[in-house]
Amino acid sequence: MKSDIRVCSVWRDAHDRPVYTLSDTCPECGADAENSTPAPFDPEDAYGEYRRALKRRGRE
Ligand SMILES: [Zn+2]
Repeated sequence: MKSDIRVCSVWRDAHDRPVYTLSDTCPECGADAENSTPAPFDPEDAYGEYRRALKRRGRE
């Protein structure tokens, strides 16, 4: 069974180290937490993904 541990999606920007959590959001900065397994997209696109996620959340 896979782990449910997630990591802050913006930890590189918001923290000095990865912030892990079992929640859907980072407990320290409130950003989306994402599965800690390697993402399928290029790491260079992580910030674009973050901005798209922010846009989605902004509509809530
Ligand atoms: Zn965070």
